[in-house]
Amino acid sequence: MLIDVHAHIGRIGHRRTDTLSAAQLVAKMDAWGIDRACVLPLADCPEGWYLHNTTDDVLAACAAFPDRLIPFCLVDPRFGDATPRTDFGDLLAEYRERGCVGIGEFIPNLPFDDPLCMNLYRQAGEAGLPVLFDLTATLDHGYGVVDDPGLSRLERALRECGDTAFIGHGPAFWSEISASVPEAERGGYPQGPVVGEGAVPRLMGAHPNLWADLSAGSGHNAITRDPAFGLAFLHRFQDKLLFGTDVLRHDQAADDVPIVATFQSIRDEGALGAAACEKIAHANAVRLFGLDA
Ligand SMILES: [Zn+2]
Repeated sequence: MLIDVHAHIGRIGHRRTDTLSAAQLVAKMDAWGIDRACVLPLADCPEGWYLHNTTDDVLAACAAFPDRLIPFCLVDPRFGDATPRTDFGDLLAEYRERGCVGIGEFIPNLPFDDPLCMNLYRQAGEAGLPVLFDLTATLDHGYGVVDDPGLSRLERALRECGDTAFIGHGPAFWSEISASVPEAERGGYPQGPVVGEGAVPRLMGAHPNLWADLSAGSGHNAITRDPAFGLAFLHRFQDKLLFGTDVLRHDQAADDVPIVATFQSIRDEGALGAAACEKIAHANAVRLFGLDA
């Protein structure tokens, strides 16, 4: 069993032809050996409005493939009266009722601990919806919540929103797997050995409510840039890591989603152990999202 916790549908990209339909996503899953995938909307935030994948779009797509696709919802923290007191309760309850298992991909280009975000995080925790976020390095990136070097804003949210599960993703998150993060590469894909204990392992070790997905170039880079460290990291956090691809374009071939082959070879080679592999492949997702096993 393999569950991808991070997939998209919609029109991701600049050309009108860049649509990935639910049927195309399922065909890719068949080709790549993925049994089920969480589908994450992006268009409910203004940063992603043009991508044609609102929560309602995702719910409709998942209803067409109920055995394969699992819906997330996306809620923008600037909804409603845009104050730190906005009540999202009815909206979150509705999305839960309709089958959504998490909030994401959380992409507002705001500081991670902006009061509007903190308000939503707290209510996500009360609703039992984990928040999968994309972390970026700067406020002019166009999308993604923003943190400083060392991830102090994420740390504050983990501490103050202890009932909320957070799932880390994105370049500014994964570059912090190392204690040495060149400023120019915070939002990129640093290469070479991991040095010391970065903010990511430190926070994952200290906070039960921080999880992470292995999706995209950033997740793949983090566990492969220093292979021995990567294997040790997977072993250490085998109860909190989630397999994911971030598949988002119809023309993406397997080569464009290297985590699929990398994770398969880790499983085949036995270097991590079968039990740890099964947790990362599906059991952690089943536990975190309350899925049918
Ligand atoms: Zn994504």
